[in-house]
Amino acid sequence: MATRDVVIIGGGFGGLEAAKSLDGVDARVTLVDRENHHLFQPLLYQVATASLAPGSIAMPIRSVLARQKNASVILGEVVGADLDARRVTLRDGTELRYDWLIVACGAQTSYFGHDEWAAHAPGLKDLRDAIRIRERVLLCFEAAERARDEAERKRLLTFVVVGGGPTGVEMAGAISELGRQVLAGDFRNIAPTDVRVMLVELADRVLTPFEPDLSAAAARQLRELDVELRFGTRITHVERGAVLLEDSRGSERIETEVVVWGAGVEPASLARALDVPHDRRGRVRVDASCAVLGRPEVFAIGDVAGFIPEGSEEALPGVAPVALQQGRFVAEQIRRDLRRLPRKTFRYRDKGIMATIGRSRAVVQGSVKLTGLLAWLAWCFVHVLYLIGFRNRFIVMFNWFWSYVTFKRGARLITARPGTDGHPTPMPPTPPTPRASEDPAAPPA
Ligand SMILES: Cc1cc2nc3c(=O)[nH]c(=O)nc-3n(C[C@H](O)[C@H](O)[C@H](O)COP(=O)(O)OP(=O)(O)OC[C@H]3O[C@@H](n4cnc5c(N)ncnc54)[C@H](O)[C@@H]3O)c2cc1C
Repeated sequence: MATRDVVIIGGGFGGLEAAKSLDGVDARVTLVDRENHHLFQPLLYQVATASLAPGSIAMPIRSVLARQKNASVILGEVVGADLDARRVTLRDGTELRYDWLIVACGAQTSYFGHDEWAAHAPGLKDLRDAIRIRERVLLCFEAAERARDEAERKRLLTFVVVGGGPTGVEMAGAISELGRQVLAGDFRNIAPTDVRVMLVELADRVLTPFEPDLSAAAARQLRELDVELRFGTRITHVERGAVLLEDSRGSERIETEVVVWGAGVEPASLARALDVPHDRRGRVRVDASCAVLGRPEVFAIGDVAGFIPEGSEEALPGVAPVALQQGRFVAEQIRRDLRRLPRKTFRYRDKGIMATIGRSRAVVQGSVKLTGLLAWLAWCFVHVLYLIGFRNRFIVMFNWFWSYVTFKRGARLITARPGTDGHPTPMPPTPPTPRASEDPAAPPA
């Protein structure tokens, strides 16, 4: 019976990979996540735009680790830790003792000090966000079909995506395809040209981590999908039904029911609650072995960590391969600790970056540069490869094939009632049925 404990906070890319890599180690591994599932975030935008059902990009963490004898899973939220006493505390008061702690709680959407915008401009970070966006988009089409005046119809068919990073680019391309190629055909009063999708970006190009020629290729592919690109533009206000933009020419109010926020992320809120050194972006500062500065028994990996490679001034980017490689690496360091071997230095193997813009459209930057169909095929291959579970891979591939051939989207469910559950009220109000006593046609009592 093992006497040592490894506690892992977060079952995302980094945490789950660390847990799996600790299979067979002489220690109890406890993974805590506030969700019961591991989520493949790179395909979230396809749930938000009705291409994929939520279940095809998520996998119960418990079932991933079911066969691993030294691992157990707790559904719960970690709210704090006493690092001197080597204990973490869950929201329900449960305390977990550890010999090694792996902090892998990821990132959350950042509104740059305007958290009040969150209600009107959802980010895309978990399944709830994706379903909320999907329902808003679909509800807008339903309402536009019945809208009586032209201005209202225009407002309902205007979609604003904030941020020209991979999430913004993917969302803008996918909303445009959904609206113009899929939905418009199913409605009697909506033409493809009625749909307006804007992508707002402060920089002068999309996908700034890519080289300028690939950014230009992505912009061209977005324009082919009729996405309106607004560079050098900032958001100054978001409210229910409208967003204010500002560029060098002045400010403009755009009437819209759907604003998708893809402009920024910050470390998950737990990072701030930990008594550890942080960098200027709030990430946990770590040494060359991914251990928190001054705390060799605490590792921080993935999006929550600010790992600066030797000879560089910039921390590694918040992408899945960094989290996966660090998850594997810290598991190896725990094995080395158990054998009293010295720790190693983490070296990131960068295999390149990619982003998709829509059907047959993508950009890839790695040992080769690709755009268009070839890039899109490479993107499909890599994303299916990293998706967890044979069933999910099969379902996703089948859905893509089906959508590719038929131009249909299988996951177009609306479960929210229009105007309830905090959703927008794009449906025109139905006149109340008059009660007998109020019915003007009723005879006076
Ligand atoms: C929409 C979107 C698209 C993306 N596309 C790509 C892409 O194409 N390619 C790419 O490489 N990367 C992409 N990324 C980034 C990639 O998903 C992240 O870099 C990666 O998920 C980071 O892994 P992680 O383990 O650090 O965190 P995550 O995978 O985010 O996992 C963190 C986990 O911690 C849990 N958690 C958080 N706080 C607590 C708490 N207090 N208590 C308990 N559990 C907690 C969360 O529920 C979550 O399961 C994308 C991200 C998003 C949001």
